[in-house]
Amino acid sequence: MAAFGSVFMPQMALSTFDGEGWSNITHVAADQLSLHPGAHVLHYASTCFEGLKAFRHEDGSVHIFRMDANIKRLSQSSRLLSLPSFSADMLETMITGIVRHYANEVPVPPGSMYIRPTHIGTEPAIGKAASPSKTSMLYILLSPVGDYFSGGARPLRLLLEENGSRCAPHMGMVKSGGNYASALQPILQARAAVNADQVLFCPGGDVQETGAANFLLIDGDEIITKALDTSFLHGITRDSLLTLARDMGMKVSERELSVDELLERVQKPTTEAALSGTAAVMTPVGTLIHNGTEHRVGSGTETPTITKLRGALNAIQWGKAADTHGWLTKV
Ligand SMILES: *Cc1c(COP(=O)(O)O)cnc(C)c1O
Repeated sequence: MAAFGSVFMPQMALSTFDGEGWSNITHVAADQLSLHPGAHVLHYASTCFEGLKAFRHEDGSVHIFRMDANIKRLSQSSRLLSLPSFSADMLETMITGIVRHYANEVPVPPGSMYIRPTHIGTEPAIGKAASPSKTSMLYILLSPVGDYFSGGARPLRLLLEENGSRCAPHMGMVKSGGNYASALQPILQARAAVNADQVLFCPGGDVQETGAANFLLIDGDEIITKALDTSFLHGITRDSLLTLARDMGMKVSERELSVDELLERVQKPTTEAALSGTAAVMTPVGTLIHNGTEHRVGSGTETPTITKLRGALNAIQWGKAADTHGWLTKV
């Protein structure tokens, strides 16, 4: 099976902004892009993206999960990067148009069609280090993906990092390339030093998120995660899982969680911890590494609540449970 996100549909949806208006949406070859080497994005990182999925139901119909939330977030990222604005309607038309074009290629569950809207500043202007790009390009790539857990769900090892941060604090809510570049060295160092899968950034002792996923702690019938502020990425999977947890009668605590409290709570044999994000929905965390000490999370292997919550979310996505929150858009 090809690595996640390495296979693309041959065409993508495209629209460009020329400084005054958006071009008509076209479907063009997805394996090339014409860009001036002086384009703003290549020098000053005016880039943001989204990740969402389309699912095939048993009757053959295709449904996109929480598209409105991803559209809102790309608009927000674009605004915070001073990229040209676009209407939600235009982006929705682009997404549904290209997904409809490849409706027959959407894999059956547990596979799906991963959708990657991308917005970049294209103005050839290397003098614009401190000004926005007047022109931009918006395109939608599609990538069919299989079962994220096909190799089995090995619980993750996370290094708790209290001194560094994932990105500059005012960039936390922007789903932008520069933030991933910023987190890469800490992650590579953690891999080399302690064989960690990811770094859980905890600036000043405040448990925040990893390089590309939110962090959730489950203690009995309580689910604890950092309250929304501008310092981190507001995951749509996070929001969906919290909503389902409330539906199940769980107590949802969105608040500050310190490293000290986290390390104390994971000692209970029933505690569970997870990362949440569109790609894998919910991945169990088995080990936290802090100041050279390894802390097992709960039993280290039994994660019934994570299995239940992930199952509830997948059931809606796959059309096996009622979509009571109106999260699916049929294409
Ligand atoms: C994309 C992303 C998430 C998860 O967001 P979802 O909407 O749940 O996919 C969390 N943190 C970061 C830094 C991300 O880039």
